[in-house]
Amino acid sequence: MTDTAVETTATTRIPHWIAGARSEGGDRTAPVYDPARGVAVREVPLASEAEVSDAIATAVAAYPAWRDLSIAKRQAIMFRFRELIVARKDELARIITSEHGKVHSDALGEIARAIEVVELATAFPLMTKGEYSENASTGVDVYSLRQPLGVVGIISPFNFPAMVPLWFAPIALASGNAVVLKPSEKDPSAAVFIAELYQEAGLPDGVLTVVHGDKEAVDTLLTHPDVAAISFVGSTPIAQHVYETGSKHGKRVQALGGAKNHMLVLPDADLDLTADAAVNAGFGSAGERCMAISVVVAVDSIADELQARIAEKMQQIRTGDGTRDNDMGPLITGQHRDKVAGYIGTAASDGAEVVVDGRDAAGPDGSGVDGDPNGFWLKPTLLDKVPTSSAAYRDEIFGPVLSIVRVASYEEGLELINENPYGNGTAIFTNDGGAARRFQNEVQVGMVGVNVPIPVPVGYHSFGGWKQSIFGQGKAYGRHAFEFYTREKVVTSRWLDPSHGGLNLGFPSN
Ligand code: NAD
Repeated sequence: MTDTAVETTATTRIPHWIAGARSEGGDRTAPVYDPARGVAVREVPLASEAEVSDAIATAVAAYPAWRDLSIAKRQAIMFRFRELIVARKDELARIITSEHGKVHSDALGEIARAIEVVELATAFPLMTKGEYSENASTGVDVYSLRQPLGVVGIISPFNFPAMVPLWFAPIALASGNAVVLKPSEKDPSAAVFIAELYQEAGLPDGVLTVVHGDKEAVDTLLTHPDVAAISFVGSTPIAQHVYETGSKHGKRVQALGGAKNHMLVLPDADLDLTADAAVNAGFGSAGERCMAISVVVAVDSIADELQARIAEKMQQIRTGDGTRDNDMGPLITGQHRDKVAGYIGTAASDGAEVVVDGRDAAGPDGSGVDGDPNGFWLKPTLLDKVPTSSAAYRDEIFGPVLSIVRVASYEEGLELINENPYGNGTAIFTNDGGAARRFQNEVQVGMVGVNVPIPVPVGYHSFGGWKQSIFGQGKAYGRHAFEFYTREKVVTSRWLDPSHGGLNLGFPSN
């Protein structure tokens, strides 16, 4: 394996990974930026329908031998991959930072969460084995098998270029499927690095394919007859498109969408710890997390105090180049930075109070941003008294903009959260066990934190929201994933002897 994936020259072309080798791809390309410098450092090929179909054909060809490889041999590959990714995590983190912009420690955190799933996947023999009932009828045994689906497509977003592909690929592969991964075209190098590590771990060529692209590549995966299932993560409108198109073409589809995560703060909460949690969960990864807290729902009696503490703590955040000692990096593109900044103006004209304005410090000159002036910077922003009719409240902003919405009571806060069309994550901050227990029971959201602001479940539980944050069946990782990537076959068997002869047209019952 070479290290060319980490080179940063403008001419570097990121390859597809097809049939166990790098492949240049065709003429259609997109630029890949270093967001901390605001310059295109690489280019990525955007595969055509024909190229994606060819890539799928290599996966189809590799599938039967992989499916039939012994459990022991498949498991050894999964363990070797785990050792390799642990050994090379620093290198992978540098690749992530160079294209996504998140700070190095955050990139390592993303990899740590991915490794949880890699480790879970090594337990696939336990999770995919069947059941056996002896003598279901006299001399008749009934048993179930879980078999892989075939070729599985994975389509991932820009915000976790290693973790999201690794939410799915390890379990799909371990369960005996071949995988075609279409990573985000904004930060595609991590996926190629991962595929090369799998090859080094012994994965046969063609079992994991990485094909880069945009809508054309995605739609080919969604409609191709040789793709059995799709795992998608991205924004809600695209998740809905993926779910509807893939389902219409007979595929098993799980499509995880966008979010607007609320954190309800009751008057008895420890306000200092709560302010820390709000700042960490609001501005980590520049707010570009599907589990970021974007709305603090504060009960009136403590709202002023909480606003002051959050604003004070925000001053300590060092915004800058993720390769240096900073807390928060740039946004993914200039266009996205401008869109996020636009919401600050929208909120202000809709009547919100702009408590801390991240636009005040768009450059490094005197602004405190530790990075190139051309980077896609926006410093942390705090809005208060945001009207729920404002687009700044309704839309998923996906940037370092934290809103406070004030409510009179627990009931009003709960109603606000439950009325929101998204249902990915939420949290309650309180010292009242009864209130927390009531919240976990009443809130209409898939992942709930009690004094935990980003309640991303551990690998052996499953990840997934409710409402407009998910389409289709089956969550990411955990037990659900083994079920998603396999299908059950039930065998009823008997070994004939002379007593089984004779005519009997009845329904066999004993
Ligand atoms: P996105 O929806 O723009 O892109 C996701 C994937 O879809 C990419 O691979 C992209 O190439 C592809 N795509 C984009 N437009 C398409 C189109 N018109 N047709 C077909 N495919 C298309 O999302 P993003 O900006 O990369 O990621 C951010 C979004 O992902 C946010 O909304 C965030 O909340 C969401 N997200 C959700 C979760 C979750 O678990 N629910 C996790 C991470 C990110």
